[in-house]
Amino acid sequence: MQFSSKLIEDAVNAFASLPGIGRKTALRLVLHLIQAEPEQTEEFAEALRRLRSQIRECELCHNLSDDPRCSICQDERRDPSVVCVVETIRDVMAIEETGQFRGRYHVLGGVISPIEGIGPADLQIDSLIRRAAEGEVKELIMAISPTIEGDTTIFYLTKQLQDQAVKVSTIARGVSFGGELEYADGITLGRSIVARVPYRIDGE
Ligand code: ZN
Repeated sequence: MQFSSKLIEDAVNAFASLPGIGRKTALRLVLHLIQAEPEQTEEFAEALRRLRSQIRECELCHNLSDDPRCSICQDERRDPSVVCVVETIRDVMAIEETGQFRGRYHVLGGVISPIEGIGPADLQIDSLIRRAAEGEVKELIMAISPTIEGDTTIFYLTKQLQDQAVKVSTIARGVSFGGELEYADGITLGRSIVARVPYRIDGE
C-alpha cells in the first residue's frame, strides 16, 4: 500500500503494529479518525496517553489498577479470606466475567518454567507468601494451567506454605479449559471454581 501522505503512513503503521490489526483495517481506522470531529480524535489520543502514564500494579494483588490498590482489593464486600491465585491479569478478567467468585486475587505474572528461565524470584511469589503469613487469608485457590509448569508452580507454592494455616485448593480438573482460563466458557470456569478440590502433594 502506497500513501501520498507520510502522516497517514505513520498512523497506519502505528495501528498495524497492534495485535489483530492488518494494514487494511489500520487504514480504515485512520481514515475514520481523519473524518471524525477533532475533539473525538483528541480524546482518543488523550485516553491512550493517560492509560500508559497512569495505569499501575495493585500493591497487594498485582492486578492492574488506577490506584495503589485495585477496585477488587478495595471492595469491602469481597471476602479477603479466599484468594484466587492466577497467572495473568487476563485470568482475573475471565474469572470476574463468570460472576461466581467473591473473594480476592493474586496475580503471579506467569508460572515457574526452567526451560524459559523463569524461577520463583521472577514471579509474585514472595508477596503471596507474605500475604498468607499475615493471617487474613484462609484459602488459596490455584487457578493455574494444567501444564507441567503450572503443576510445578502449585507444588512449589504448597511447599512454601506448608507451615501456614492456609488451605490450598485447585480449580476442578477434568473441566478442560484449554490451558488458558480466558478461553474457557464462563459457565464451565465458574463451576470449576465453585467445585474446587483440596490440593494434596502425592505421597503425603
Ligand atoms: Zn488488588
